[in-house]
Amino acid sequence: MRKTVQINVDPQSREDTKSVILKALKKAGLDPKTGRGHILRRSLDARQRNAYYVFQVEVWDADDPAPEAPDVPSYQMVDEARPAFIIGAGPAGYFAALELLTLGIKPILFERGKDVQSRRRDLKAIQQFSVVDPNSNYCFGEGGAGTYSDGKLYTRATKRGNVRSVLETLVAHGAGQDILIDAHPHIGSNKLPTIIEAIRATILSHGGEVHFESRVTDILVKSDKIAGVVVNDEKEYKCDNVILATGHSARDIYALLASKDILLELKPFALGVRIEHPQPLIDSIQYKRQNRGDDLPPASYRLACNVDNRGVFSFCMCPGGLVVPSATAPGEIVVNGMSLSRRDSPYANAGTVVSVDEKLVEKITGENDALAGIAFQREIEQLCFKAGDGSQAAPAQRLVDFMKGKSSKSLPSSSYIPGLFAHDVGSLLPSEITHALKHGVRQFGKRMKGYLTNEAVVIATESRTSSPVRIPRDGETLMHPQVEGLFPSGEGAGFAGGIVSAAVDGMRVAHSLAEYLKAQVQ
Ligand SMILES: Cc1cc2nc3c(=O)[nH]c(=O)nc-3n(C[C@H](O)[C@H](O)[C@H](O)COP(=O)(O)OP(=O)(O)OC[C@H]3O[C@@H](n4cnc5c(N)ncnc54)[C@H](O)[C@@H]3O)c2cc1C
Repeated sequence: MRKTVQINVDPQSREDTKSVILKALKKAGLDPKTGRGHILRRSLDARQRNAYYVFQVEVWDADDPAPEAPDVPSYQMVDEARPAFIIGAGPAGYFAALELLTLGIKPILFERGKDVQSRRRDLKAIQQFSVVDPNSNYCFGEGGAGTYSDGKLYTRATKRGNVRSVLETLVAHGAGQDILIDAHPHIGSNKLPTIIEAIRATILSHGGEVHFESRVTDILVKSDKIAGVVVNDEKEYKCDNVILATGHSARDIYALLASKDILLELKPFALGVRIEHPQPLIDSIQYKRQNRGDDLPPASYRLACNVDNRGVFSFCMCPGGLVVPSATAPGEIVVNGMSLSRRDSPYANAGTVVSVDEKLVEKITGENDALAGIAFQREIEQLCFKAGDGSQAAPAQRLVDFMKGKSSKSLPSSSYIPGLFAHDVGSLLPSEITHALKHGVRQFGKRMKGYLTNEAVVIATESRTSSPVRIPRDGETLMHPQVEGLFPSGEGAGFAGGIVSAAVDGMRVAHSLAEYLKAQVQ
């Protein structure tokens, strides 16, 4: 009979899977010579001074049937098949395309940005010369916002689809097997591009199409049905279906839909700052010892509290990471975080954000329409830009100075390549956000002794945490309630937050689109 047992292992032995399985067999009372096993999950428990790894291991005897191997998706050749159109080659768009291949439908993808390798040059231009290409940046381009991000694959979206199959698909396209067992799987921005290229190769080799530098500038609707898309203001493609997976920063797409009176909704989101600490400081707080050593990963944290009924929380924490310029248009400052697979930068950064509801949006902007949240984000992003010298340098303040509301005389070193300039960051944010951040940080400082330090720097602004707009869809058909054939998907539609949940949503929408096409034939 198969059993699952838990084994605690020293950090030094975490890669020695053979001995972990042997220990598990012994614990389960099975003969280590004939017994078999595999690791289901690995997580770090660092609550005590001596941190250790907890392994869940499934073991069985030689006579027992082995667990079933995971289903390998069988992609069909679709060159002659019925087409489905996808706008956006982020996780939602690419996983929708892969799923369509399994369903015998030909995906035709339009992506405004460049292929994942060519995109690197534009990221360099932002980092080194403060030149922001509105079609190719940290948010736009092949792989979407997820590609040059961090590649943290943790998601809470277990109910909404098959997270495991997303991870297996990533492994099948080159990701390390570790992501299948780690409690907080991570790939890293240096490894993600190769995986994205492999996914594209699967789509192309099975007869799908991927068009780069192809911004969809119009979505044609006739008699409340999708009739086509226009690319780069010139080429028209006739079609009766579209998966709209354009992410949370495609402001032109939201404006386009609004101009056509296609129903959109204002959605709560979060906005604030990114706080960067020296990584050794976070390690010493979390591991309760001075030197982390080589056996433990750079420590992370997750913090949340409530201030006057407003959520304040850490977001997208990047241990051993870098703060990156994530604006999608010139004239704005937006920051976010990423890390490489080794997570070996000397800094730890995390978004520290405050939830923003419809009431606060209306108070600040005087608007309450569906696009008011974008106006709110944009206003603060532009204020941060105007406070500077016209480059992508970001306004910053030492954490203790931020709490006191005084400008810093000097700033600590930072991973943010375009540079920081000293400014009273609190004065650039709505007073409600600054107030909530200060109270939140005070509480975080009590929970993590040493967190509230002048060695930490506050960088503005972290504004693109999630979409401020929802593109509604019917709960069953996943189609927009007003436009037949329009399938909003992923983070930009307000139905995902993060790489894995966007991928899961893309797969789900692909199935609904297949049902829709099937119903048309019948
Ligand atoms: C720096 C950074 C770090 C992040 N780190 C993590 C992390 O570690 N883990 C995590 O889970 N999430 C992370 N995220 C968030 C994650 O990237 C997103 O949640 C996810 O990518 C959303 O997927 P999506 O497919 O819905 O949209 P996106 O990834 O935003 O993809 C949308 C795509 O649509 C394209 N597009 C937009 N408009 C048009 C148009 N008009 N025509 C054609 N194409 C268009 C865009 O170019 C883009 O490629 C990070 C984001 C950033 C910016």
